[in-house]
Amino acid sequence: MQQSEKLFSRAQKTIPGGVNSPVRAFKAVGGTPRFISKADGPYIWDVDGKRYIDYVQSWGPMVLGHNHSAIRQAVITAAENGLSFGAPTEAEVIMAEKVSALVPSMEMVRMVNSGTEATMSAIRLARGYTGRNKLIKFEGCYHGHADSLLVKAGSGALTLGVPSSPGVPADVAQHTLTAEFNNLASVEQMFAEYPDDIACIIVEPVAGNMNCIPPVEGFLQGLRKLCDNNGSVLIFDEVMTGFRVARGGAQERYAVVPDLTCLGKVIGGGMPVGAFGGKRDILTHIAPTGPVYQAGTLSGNPVAMAAGLAALAELENESLYPHIYHLTEALVNGFQAAADKHGIPLTTNHAGSMFGIFFTDLDKVTNYQQAINCNNEQFKQFYHGMLDAGVYMAPASYEAGFMSYAHTDALIAETVSAAEHIFSKL
Ligand code: PLP
Repeated sequence: MQQSEKLFSRAQKTIPGGVNSPVRAFKAVGGTPRFISKADGPYIWDVDGKRYIDYVQSWGPMVLGHNHSAIRQAVITAAENGLSFGAPTEAEVIMAEKVSALVPSMEMVRMVNSGTEATMSAIRLARGYTGRNKLIKFEGCYHGHADSLLVKAGSGALTLGVPSSPGVPADVAQHTLTAEFNNLASVEQMFAEYPDDIACIIVEPVAGNMNCIPPVEGFLQGLRKLCDNNGSVLIFDEVMTGFRVARGGAQERYAVVPDLTCLGKVIGGGMPVGAFGGKRDILTHIAPTGPVYQAGTLSGNPVAMAAGLAALAELENESLYPHIYHLTEALVNGFQAAADKHGIPLTTNHAGSMFGIFFTDLDKVTNYQQAINCNNEQFKQFYHGMLDAGVYMAPASYEAGFMSYAHTDALIAETVSAAEHIFSKL
């Protein structure tokens, strides 16, 4: 750990908190973040040369595993022709056609550079399209760090949103209403209170930022109906779930069609990319065809498009989804059996290749309040035990885990055996 410690202490002098994105700093679990030098397949290596089985997979995008040869080669080939043109390219057209084919509700697609940009732009578009101000989001869902989305619930169900970060004006936050995930009644109340001013609902169809919480039966369908009945836009934030919980994302898995979809991470194969898209009738309101402004110098970057197209081409592999679903199930079942054997109160969730483990007496965790009431002390011990054993999981109990095509049954067995050893000592 010596090199990571040295780098972390050096980093803190010139980078706030030593990191470029807060969760990387290990604040939720304590200790020194591992500085990573390389990644390949299911593994990452830290700067001290230690190898880990990786269940973070760059927070989701690496469905195929790290450093996939086809993606790497596509990046090298594209880079030989120049890194950015600021002008349209054929690759962007192919990308939009490909996304549209994989996610049919995305009749038109606009590329951006991150998930944050995708959600921020989708919300502006929904507001511009409907001429309304308010949006509904869900407690525990994360949609990036745009002002309108960094808002938490007020103290009562119908109080206006309050900023969850200094710097977000209360005037902006008041237009964000925060409902309870998996609770349609909490959403109905908001429509009753503001029948003519709710522009959109934005939801992670499988929540992956309060650990992993799938939708209960009827929840997404209910949101669809509420939006239809009230003339509001339904936005699925599929930044994590896109191409991961099914080839066509959560909307395919749960058979609910949103009006707009946000994508990120996966679509760039690891490059900084996002996209939003949806109904033609709504997308034509974006500049230059419509009045809602949205732009980006590096949007549709040729190297990123090449990486993304190579990644999406690999998704055609018929064995990919059965393999990652099988491994995900084997992993959570293995964790559950090991915890049961040693009397550790634990439950798990999973959807496709996303999973979560919760240290709790509850049979199932279905919302944010339940997720944050889990035993964080046990999680921390588990986390550091796994890290020492060479298993890299998200350094916070409120993050989902991710499986890749490069993982194997043998690695799952190794991971479960490491967990069992820790459970026996908790
Ligand atoms: N939406 C979801 C569901 C996410 O999980 C994230 C990031 O983790 C974002 C949006 C923001 O994406 P980015 O970090 O690329 O801005």
